[in-house]
Amino acid sequence: MSQSVHIPLADEAATVALGKQLAPALADGAVVFLQGDLGLGKTTLSRGIITALGHEGAVKSPTYTLVEPYELGAVKIYHFDLYRLSDPEELELLGAREYFGRHCLCLVEWSVRGQGFLPEADMEIELQMGDDGGRIACLSAHSPRGEAVLECLATD
Ligand code: ADP
Ligand code: MG
Repeated sequence: MSQSVHIPLADEAATVALGKQLAPALADGAVVFLQGDLGLGKTTLSRGIITALGHEGAVKSPTYTLVEPYELGAVKIYHFDLYRLSDPEELELLGAREYFGRHCLCLVEWSVRGQGFLPEADMEIELQMGDDGGRIACLSAHSPRGEAVLECLATD
């Protein structure tokens, strides 16, 4: 159960557009790990998803807050950036466990820092450096829900 898809993203607008394309399939809730080094576009992709689901205004990077919540009509999103997390136990103290139990969309940057606390991801999106300053998104599904998201992309 591990399909994967590689998508070239020529510029920032392409990263935002990929987020927009993924958003409808994620609105019901999913756990998405966003992998890749600093500056590769994890927050940009999150912004594309969150904005497409109806958020108006800026999408702040949750680097200092660890998590930014969004409630967009029936859609609940928790956008995590665990770069500064020193102990996964901090997530427990934040009350984050319940975010993963309901019909929420959890977008997690730096998930590796939350190992031991975080559940399995439905899908992972790894951003890599591409040619000419662009990026490449590698999407892999780890659950039927994740596979459904990839299938939506294929039929778009
Ligand atoms: P991260 O959250 O991974 O640290 P950010 O999204 O904060 O990264 O920043 C990524 C930087 O890369 C931003 O300056 C953004 O404009 C730029 N960027 C995003 N996607 C692309 C792309 N496909 N090609 C070139 N630059 C991009
Ligand atoms: Mg970021």
